[in-house]
Amino acid sequence: REDGWFKGTLQRNGRTGLAVSAMSRLAVVCGGSRGIGKAASRLLAERGCRLAVVSRNEDAARAAVASLPGDDHVAFSCDVSKEKEVRETFETIQKTCGNISYLVNAAGINRDALLLRSKPEDMVALLHTNLLGTMLTCRAALRSMLHTPGAAIVNIGSVVGLKGNAGQSVYSASKAGLEGFTRSLAKEVASRGIRVNLLAPGFIRTDMTAGLKEDVVRSVPLGRFGEPEEVAQAVLFLLESSYVTGQVLVVDGGLQLAM
Ligand code: NDP
Repeated sequence: REDGWFKGTLQRNGRTGLAVSAMSRLAVVCGGSRGIGKAASRLLAERGCRLAVVSRNEDAARAAVASLPGDDHVAFSCDVSKEKEVRETFETIQKTCGNISYLVNAAGINRDALLLRSKPEDMVALLHTNLLGTMLTCRAALRSMLHTPGAAIVNIGSVVGLKGNAGQSVYSASKAGLEGFTRSLAKEVASRGIRVNLLAPGFIRTDMTAGLKEDVVRSVPLGRFGEPEEVAQAVLFLLESSYVTGQVLVVDGGLQLAM
């Protein structure tokens, strides 16, 4: 059929074998206003998903939504490190948009500094946004996802969470924490058919890396920065697969090989 429910990509749910259309799916992308989250939102919208884009800056979230194909998407202002905001935002999403199929946790910050020079308030902000924020959004989304066949979560970690990096000890700890969290949550919810995976990017060209010198790519075997769209492709793979859970997918142009 060319209209309605069957338009879009048909997928099969891993547990039930039911066919599910991407068009019927609601995807929440935290950190969807810029960078990797914005690219993932675009790709998901192109696949026919309805998007709920979440970031602190409401204008930026609205602008990101306005740039998406389709007109059924919604923007939400929410700081993922604040439990009450997260709880209320996800309650509103469920009430106004329905059950969540996909959750992408791309909200993140960096505060690079040697540990001796790190400010305690920056350390707290890193852990609260990158690690606690992901835990809070997963918790807030899960109840809704229990009702959705083929539901899946992708958390965005980092290659430095796997390998470590001088000047990024706290950031790396926040991302390493996501690995244990993702694997454990995958075990907790597998019996309900929900999959949870971690994506670990290397140097990706976004606002976060705008201050880096071009010569950092000398350490990257592929010899260049990755583009947000290249990470988005991997996000889509993890969301749309049906038998991958509790895994870490590295998208880094080979950087990890050289670390
Ligand atoms: P950007 O800085 O381009 O975008 C970050 C996004 O997160 C924005 O939408 C921002 O919106 C949102 N955000 C930040 N803090 C919060 C918060 N407390 N609550 C809600 N939203 C928030 O970063 P990237 O796209 O580069 O990074 C995305 C993820 O990928 C991050 O977790 C990052 O650590 C990770 N990563 C990035 C790499 C890179 O090279 N770029 C490498 C490895 C990992 P707003 O400011 O309006 O809240």
